[in-house]
Amino acid sequence: MRFRSRLLVDLNILTENYQKLKKICPNNEVLFMVKADAYGHGILPICRHAVTELGIKEFGCATLGEAIHLRDELFDLEFEIYVFSDVQLGLQEKSEIYLNRRIIPILSNMDDLKFILDNSDFKNFPLSVKFNTGMNRLGIDYDRVDEVISLIKSKGRKSIYHLLTHFSSSSLSMKTNKRNIEQKARFKAIKEAFIEAGIELERTSIANSGAIEQGHGLEETHIRPGLMMYGPSSLIKPIREQSLWDGRVISSLETYVLKVFPVKKGQPVGYGATPVPYEGLCAIIALGYGDGFSTRYVGATLTHNGHLGKVVGRVNMDMAQVLFKNEAANNLKVDDRFIVWRNDPSDILRLSDETATIPYEIFLHLTNRVPKVYV
Ligand SMILES: *Cc1c(COP(=O)(O)O)cnc(C)c1O
Repeated sequence: MRFRSRLLVDLNILTENYQKLKKICPNNEVLFMVKADAYGHGILPICRHAVTELGIKEFGCATLGEAIHLRDELFDLEFEIYVFSDVQLGLQEKSEIYLNRRIIPILSNMDDLKFILDNSDFKNFPLSVKFNTGMNRLGIDYDRVDEVISLIKSKGRKSIYHLLTHFSSSSLSMKTNKRNIEQKARFKAIKEAFIEAGIELERTSIANSGAIEQGHGLEETHIRPGLMMYGPSSLIKPIREQSLWDGRVISSLETYVLKVFPVKKGQPVGYGATPVPYEGLCAIIALGYGDGFSTRYVGATLTHNGHLGKVVGRVNMDMAQVLFKNEAANNLKVDDRFIVWRNDPSDILRLSDETATIPYEIFLHLTNRVPKVYV
C-alpha cells in the first residue's frame, strides 16, 4: 500500500453532484450505476452515502457477485439492486440468491425471460426486461416485442416492473445523431405496444449520463446515471460545451515528488533510455502502472503549482517522470504533494483527451495499491 499516493474521495461532492442532477431532472427517479466498484471509487462507502444522505433507493451492478457483496455488506439499509449483464440465472443456486436477497436480474434474452416465467418460485418476482433498440449487445431485439408480449400474457402477467434499453452513442449528439434518434423511436414503439396490449409499465428508463446531460430520455420514470455522478462529462470533446452538466469530480489522485533533477535536451531518462524532448527539470512521481498510472499517459500534460509538465520517458511500475520547464524551479521540490487530477473535471478530461482514453477507464485503472481515503 502507498501512503502518500492516494485517491481522496469527497462524498460532499457526490451530494453536490446529485443536487445538480436533480436540477436537470427533477421528476425522474435515479437508478445509480455503481458497477465496477462504483467506477473505482468503492461501492460500499458510495452506496451507503447515496442511501443515507441522498435518499437513492436503486442501484445498478453488472455482475451477481457485485450485487451480493453490496447486499450483504449493507444489510442494514433498504434499497433495490439490479444486475445488468452477468446474470447467470439458469443455475439453481444463483436463482436462490436472486430470490433470497431480492436482487433483480435484468432479463436481456428470451431464455432468461422464459426461465423466470416458467419457474413457480419466481411467480411474484418483478420482471425487468431490456430491449435491444440498436446497440446490438445484450437485450431482446426490438422486433420481437409482440412475441414477448404474448409470452408474458400467456403466463398471466399483467405488468412489467422495469422496461429499459441502452444507447450505443449517447456521448454523441442526442439531437442529430441518427442512431440516437432511431433508438428513441424504437423504444417509444415498444412502450406503446405494451400499453396497447394492456400490460402496465411500472418503471421505464433509457438515459445514461450522455443522454441525461443533453436533457434526453427524461420522459421515462427513471434515469440511469453512472459517470456523471462521479463528476466528468461523458460527451466527446467537440460537443462537450453543449452539456448541461457542471458536476465536479468526486475524487482527486494525489502522489508526491520523489526526486527533481535538471536535464538537458536529448538526455536519456529511465527504462529504454528515452531522450527528453527539451531542457528542464525532471520530476519523478510516486505513481506507476502498478498503481494504475497507465503507460498510455506518456505525453500527457500534468500541472503542478501552476506549471505545465509532460509525462516523458516510460511509465515504470512504481514511478513516472514528468518534465517541467526551468521556470518551475521555485515551485517544484522533492516531497511536494503532486496532484494528477483535482476535483475540477478539466484535469481528468484533459488526461483522457490527450491519451485517447476515457474517464471511465482512467478511474478504473487504479489498483489496490492506491488507498482510497474518504472525506
Ligand atoms: C453502465 C450503464 C449505465 C451508466 O452509463 P454512464 O455512461 O456511466 O452513465 C446505464 N445503463 C446501463 C445499462 C449501463 O450498463
